[in-house]
Amino acid sequence: MNYFVGYKCSLCAMEYDSSHIQYTCPKDGGNLDVVLDYATIRRNFQPDDISLMVEQSLWRYLPLLPVSEPKRRRTPLRAAGWTPIYSPQRLAVELGLQKLWIKDESRNPTASFKDRASALVVARSQEIGVEVVVTASTGNAGAALAGMAAAVDQKAVIFAPRNAPAAKIAQLLVFGAQVFLVDGTYDDAFDLSIQASEEFSWYCRNTGYNPFTAEGKKTAAFEIWELIHSGVLMHNPTSPLNIFVSVGDGNIISGIHKGFKDLEMLGWINHMPRLYGVQAEGSAAIANAFDAGQETINPVSANTLADSISVDLPRDGVRAVRACRETGGSYVRVTDQEILDSIAALGKAGIFAEPAGAAAYAGLQRLVKLGRFSKQDPVLVINTGNGLKDIKAAMECVPHAPVIEPSLKSLIKALGY
Ligand SMILES: *Cc1c(COP(=O)(O)O)cnc(C)c1O
Ligand SMILES: [Zn+2]
Repeated sequence: MNYFVGYKCSLCAMEYDSSHIQYTCPKDGGNLDVVLDYATIRRNFQPDDISLMVEQSLWRYLPLLPVSEPKRRRTPLRAAGWTPIYSPQRLAVELGLQKLWIKDESRNPTASFKDRASALVVARSQEIGVEVVVTASTGNAGAALAGMAAAVDQKAVIFAPRNAPAAKIAQLLVFGAQVFLVDGTYDDAFDLSIQASEEFSWYCRNTGYNPFTAEGKKTAAFEIWELIHSGVLMHNPTSPLNIFVSVGDGNIISGIHKGFKDLEMLGWINHMPRLYGVQAEGSAAIANAFDAGQETINPVSANTLADSISVDLPRDGVRAVRACRETGGSYVRVTDQEILDSIAALGKAGIFAEPAGAAAYAGLQRLVKLGRFSKQDPVLVINTGNGLKDIKAAMECVPHAPVIEPSLKSLIKALGY
């Protein structure tokens, strides 16, 4: 039993029912929003019914999800979401903010935010009984799909660019997916995966293509909302929460926006948080559209070390522009050097981020420098991926460790005493 009624096109507002597999709008290629039966959910549930759920994963939000509960309990598929939120004192002081939180998505089963989306897509694929799930990925979406599929013995096919970080490719292979390394960009892999999915009737998870990915990603908004609702994040909010998230295809930020919009439809939220999208300077197609005040996304030739947000043509750009415009936030561009510096900064708070994860923090640092926030403004930064996924980048932002002889004498010399 769930409250999924259908889809609505984000461009032409055409509605489609829930009985067929739908990807994008057949008329204009627009991304589809999942529509829920808000009136019935509202009649059947109170916010406290959600807070009292014992499930410590995104499945605690089952009444607000368009899929039914995956059957087997003790699997990684049932462990996605419900990530910790930290309050790092040292970073708050450095930035001159009194209320700073970091939500650490690297704590998901396959170590990135993408598990939220892949959990929903795999649950959906089980529901509709497809044999093979497929995705194109810069690495994390694939690892998440491969991991979630392995959890329920589902066959997964992954297309990744051949230059994806080695740790991400290792994850794909260890999870037993059939992996193809495409001699081209993520965008090339994306196009090929859609052709393959059509040719072989594989169920396609692609970001900004399958409407269920945003439905998984919206659960991060629900987790933030729960902490606001219970007073953990803010007592008597005087200004809305400012949320920073890194943006490549734009599906995470669209998903988070959808989550807060669902809560608004249910009348469960008073203040819509402000969303800030952070892009790498070398991969800023969505930021460009936002700054131009338009929704037309012009492709770029992406060039950044943050591979997870390196995208020529973002697949969820329109909704991603709206996420910031409609909430009163904005887009920020950061350099690769700022991203590396942010890996080091977060590390000193005990948080290990991959470049795309650290980019969100770099965006906050930028806006703080520009004087965009006062001391009391509450800010939450999402670290979307684990630093272990890209060791090469991590080693670029830290000093080398000296090699010493195993003697006290050589230690004293190295310490400079
Ligand atoms: C995918 C990803 C992003 C960006 O998400 P989009 O939906 O492509 O905007 C950011 N950080 C990490 C670690 C990711 O894997
Ligand atoms: Zn349409």
